[in-house]
Amino acid sequence: MINGQDIKDMDDNNVMWEYYSQSYSNKMSLNEYQSMASKTAIYSLQHQILYPALGLAGEAGEVANKVKKMIRDGKLDRSGIAAELGDVLWYVAALARDLNIDLQDLASQNLEKLYGRKERGTLGGNGDNR
Ligand SMILES: [Mg+2]
Repeated sequence: MINGQDIKDMDDNNVMWEYYSQSYSNKMSLNEYQSMASKTAIYSLQHQILYPALGLAGEAGEVANKVKKMIRDGKLDRSGIAAELGDVLWYVAALARDLNIDLQDLASQNLEKLYGRKERGTLGGNGDNR
């Protein structure tokens, strides 16, 4: 998985990464994140959609594995889980980009759906369209 060090190693992106990490990381919008993350995507065009979809499933599994180890070892690896959640976020952003979905719009539409369900009292239950 690409991390901050990998990004620094990419000369083309170094200046931009330094700029964001020192000045704006706490204020970064989802679209800014998506744009910055896309500069670290190294898979080929022919593997668009498939590569990030598989990566997303893999990283979600890594999150689950960290949680599983919490049960086994009796301690929470909070920073490790956070790192895996970051990897999940990267793949969500990449998959959305490959599908030409604006990450900010995606987040807004998701909240709109959930608050609609809350208003209708359907947060619980089953089905995508409730
Ligand atoms: Mg990972």
